[in-house]
Amino acid sequence: MVFKSAYFSRALSAQLIVTLTLTLFVSAQVLAQNGSEFSQVRVRIQKDLTQYPKNLTANFGPHIRKYEVVHKENGKFDVVEVVPLTHYLAGVVSKEMPLAWPAEALKAQAVVARSYLFTRMSERRDKLFHVENDQMDQVFEWTDSAKAYQVVLATDDVVLSSNKKVVKTFYHSDCGGQTVPADKVWIGAVDLGTTQDPWCGNRSSNQWSFAVPTSEFTAETAAKETFEAAYFKKKLVRFEDWSVQKLRQVFGFSKIRSSPDTVEVNEDVVTFTGRGFGHGVGLCQWGSLYMAKKGRTYMDILTHYYPKAEILKIQSLLIKNYLTNNEIPKTINKTGIIYNN
Ligand SMILES: [Zn+2]
Repeated sequence: MVFKSAYFSRALSAQLIVTLTLTLFVSAQVLAQNGSEFSQVRVRIQKDLTQYPKNLTANFGPHIRKYEVVHKENGKFDVVEVVPLTHYLAGVVSKEMPLAWPAEALKAQAVVARSYLFTRMSERRDKLFHVENDQMDQVFEWTDSAKAYQVVLATDDVVLSSNKKVVKTFYHSDCGGQTVPADKVWIGAVDLGTTQDPWCGNRSSNQWSFAVPTSEFTAETAAKETFEAAYFKKKLVRFEDWSVQKLRQVFGFSKIRSSPDTVEVNEDVVTFTGRGFGHGVGLCQWGSLYMAKKGRTYMDILTHYYPKAEILKIQSLLIKNYLTNNEIPKTINKTGIIYNN
C-alpha cells in the first residue's frame, strides 16, 4: 500500500477499534478531555524569525500542510506546523533510521518515537508546540515512503510504559556494547533498564577518545554552577549534578560521542574515552539493525533494550481521532498571536 495523499485511506478506520484504557496514559485526563489533541502533533519548524515568514505555503508537494505563525512577546516569530500523528511518526522514522534497514528495526524505532512523542505532548499540552523538528526532540521531515507508514501502522497500538504510564523513551546510534541508565544521563529520567549489547559490540568503528586542555575544561565547567570538578578523579565517570548529556552539550556531541567509559584528569589534559555514538540510553539503533537481520522481531528488540519496560498495546483511539478530526486544536494556551496559514 502506498500512501501518497495527505490523508491516507479512511477505509482504514473500519479496522480500528476504539477502546482505550485511559489509565495507561501519563496524560489520561488530557486525553479523556480532548483526545483530538493527540492526533495532531504541533511541531516547531522555525523559531525566532525577525520578520513574518512569507511563502510558507509554497512547495507543499502532495501533502496538505497546516502552519501557524506565532508572534511572540519578544517580537519574534515562530512557525509551528500541525502534523497528523501518523505522518509525524512516519516522518520521524524516515529521518532517525535508514529506511533501507529491516522492517522490524524500523518498527522498534516507530514504537520508541511514539512513546517519546506522547510524553512530550503531555508535558507540553499547554504550550505552543509539542516538539522541535530536530535533535532537541526527534528529527522530523515529511516522507512519502510507504515503508515508513507501514511500520508506523503495523505498530499503531504499541507503546512502552512503566507502572501503566507511557514513558519517555530514548534511543541512540550505537551503545558501544553496553547501554546506560536513563537517569545517569538525564536527572529524573525513568530508568527502563540496561543491557549488555553483543549486537553492536563487535563494531570496530565505534571507539573514540577526546582530549581537552585541563585549563579549558575547568574554565568551561566552572561556568556552570552545578558542576564541581572535585568529582573527577583519576578514572571516574561520576557526574553527580552534571549530567553526561550536559557534558556532551558543552564540548560537542561529536567530540564526546557517548557516555565515556573513562575520564583521565591530568595537570595538562583531560582525556575521555568511550565506545559508541550517542547517549547510550535505550534503543541502540546499530544493535537493532543486527537483531533484525538475525530474524528478531521488533518486540524482541524492545524487550532487549528496555528490559524493565512494559510493552503495552493500546487500541487506536489516537488514529481514529486523527482520521475524524483534523481540526487545529483551539484550546492551546496562547502566549502570542497566532496566524493560521
Ligand atoms: Zn548497542
